[in-house]
Amino acid sequence: MKVIVRDLGTEENVMTGEIKPEIVGNEDAIRFTKPIKVAAKVQRVDNTLVVKVKVDSGFASICSRCAEDVVSDLQSEFWLDFDIPAGVETIELDDDIRQEILVGLPVKILCMENCQGLCPRCGKNLNQVQCQCKKD
Ligand SMILES: [Zn+2]
Ligand SMILES: [Zn+2]
Repeated sequence: MKVIVRDLGTEENVMTGEIKPEIVGNEDAIRFTKPIKVAAKVQRVDNTLVVKVKVDSGFASICSRCAEDVVSDLQSEFWLDFDIPAGVETIELDDDIRQEILVGLPVKILCMENCQGLCPRCGKNLNQVQCQCKKD
């Protein structure tokens, strides 16, 4: 999504758009499963572009305790601001929006809140089976 700052007055502008998940391009543990729907309120305040962003998407990752796949919806809201350098006519929002979404995700993603994880001795998924290993 591009904001044409040249045409912006001081009033609030509403923009909507979609960021494709394939260009999210992070090969880390988290990937987007749907296009990222963006609704943004954009306002120019002097030489700063202030953007209130609302996103709606979904992501897939693996549980940090049991390593099972986790697929989840994702909604979040945040503010971004951008300096508007003199002479610049457009500002691209996509990278910063993706970045902010990833930063906002929990560091440890769990398949469920009380995931039992894997047995440290036999490696069985304790959500599915009760193993016979002795607990210390
Ligand atoms: Zn789990
Ligand atoms: Zn075990």
